[in-house]
This record gives sequence, C-alpha cells and structure tokens, in this order.
Amino acid sequence: MLERRTGASVAVVTVTWEDLGWERLAAGVGRCRLPGWDCTAGLVVGADAALAVDAGSSLGEGARLRVAAQELAGHRVTHLALTHPHFDHVLGASAFAGAEVFGAVGTAALLAGAGREALRADAVAEGLDAGLAEEAADALVAVRHEVCGEWTLDLGGGRQVLLANVGPGHTGHDLAVLVPGEVEVVFCGDLVEESGEPQAGPDAVPSQWPAALDRLLGLGGEDALYVPGHGAVVDAAFVRAQRDALAARFGVSR
Ligand SMILES: [Zn+2]
Repeated sequence: MLERRTGASVAVVTVTWEDLGWERLAAGVGRCRLPGWDCTAGLVVGADAALAVDAGSSLGEGARLRVAAQELAGHRVTHLALTHPHFDHVLGASAFAGAEVFGAVGTAALLAGAGREALRADAVAEGLDAGLAEEAADALVAVRHEVCGEWTLDLGGGRQVLLANVGPGHTGHDLAVLVPGEVEVVFCGDLVEESGEPQAGPDAVPSQWPAALDRLLGLGGEDALYVPGHGAVVDAAFVRAQRDALAARFGVSR
C-alpha cells in the first residue's frame, strides 16, 4: 500500500504486485516473468532502499521494470544484483544507472569491452532486434561491486539480503540472492530452470554445476522458495532433482 501526499490531503493508493503483473513471493519480495525469453526479474523492498534482481533484455524492458519496481517499493531502486552475465538478464541494466550494481567476481569485465560485444552478438543471435541490442550494449552500466564469497546488503527496516557467489555452474559468474524472512526466497539465476532443461552454453562449467546447486540448497534449506531464472517457482526437492539430473547429464560423480 502506498500513501501519496498532495498538499494537505492524503490519498491512499493500493498497488498490489498482481496489479502490475508481478508475482508476490513474501512480504516485500516479488518477481515478474518477462516476455520473450521468460526471464525472471526480482524485487526486494526495504524501508528506504530496494534491490532489483536482474534487469531484462533491453533498455526499454529495464525502464519498464524500474518504473514498476519504484511503484511497488514506494521509492527508487538503490541496488541491482545481476545473477549472471547473459543478455536476457543484464542488457536492461542501464535503466538502473543510479543504483549500486553487484555481480559475481569477473562480471565487470564481461560487461565491458569485448564482453559487451559478445553480449550484443548473443542477443541478436537469440532474436533481439539488432538496434535494441546495440543501444543496450553501448549504454551498459559498470558493475561496481564484485562478490567473491558472500555480501550482506542492508535495505533498511530490518530487511537484509545475502548475495552469494555460489558458482561456477551455468556460467563462470553465478550470483544467488537469499532473502531471509518468514518465507525465505532464493533467486537462483539460471543455475535453476523450470520451464525447460537448464541451458548449458560454451561459458557453462558443467563439472561444477551440481556443487553450485548444493551450495544453493545450503543457503535456502528445505523450506525456501527457489526462484529459477526461467519458469515457475520451485521447492528444494525440485532443485535437488535438477542437481542429480545435471550430474547424470554431465557425468559428474558425487
Ligand atoms: Zn543464462
């Protein structure tokens, strides 16, 4: 619920996550599934700060996310966590240019120089309009904070969030976001996919992917909601089954 003050009058405007096409996961925590690649973008709201998780695939998509996130939070988005450097998760990042940007260690280099060009080319190969891909890649923000192990963010009002470098796995630079609370939420990036088989490209590290999922399960435990990079929210049993399937697929003995 948002309270908007105009002069002496107070208008109470109720905006729910569902009103804006988002899915509420816990108090002050939600996500939306973006069109096109069904990529998840998340939001964690604190008292005077807000964390966006991933930024969509283009400047326009990032801007739409930012507007919705601000409306839901009641204030601006102050932090952005990038779960991994793939175009559908990062090319909207410059819409959050005023935010503190976090990624797993090594992400900064991949969002600059030749890495930026590779993102652009990958986006076009996956069907993004060439002009939109170029515009977004040109404008990409810098990752200011690279996370090696774990990093605690304080968003105010008792809301703390843990950023954890749990990879490598889906890429060499996988960052998970744990939101503690009555209902715990773990944003998994593409370490977990529900809408299809986990996608392993040339930058995947298959031999270490199952261990990354063990770390993810260690973070969230049995009762957390696990939010995949693509698809419906899943539970610990699903993540464990996906870990076993990946281990079998890539011949990783445990
Ligand atoms: Zn990915």
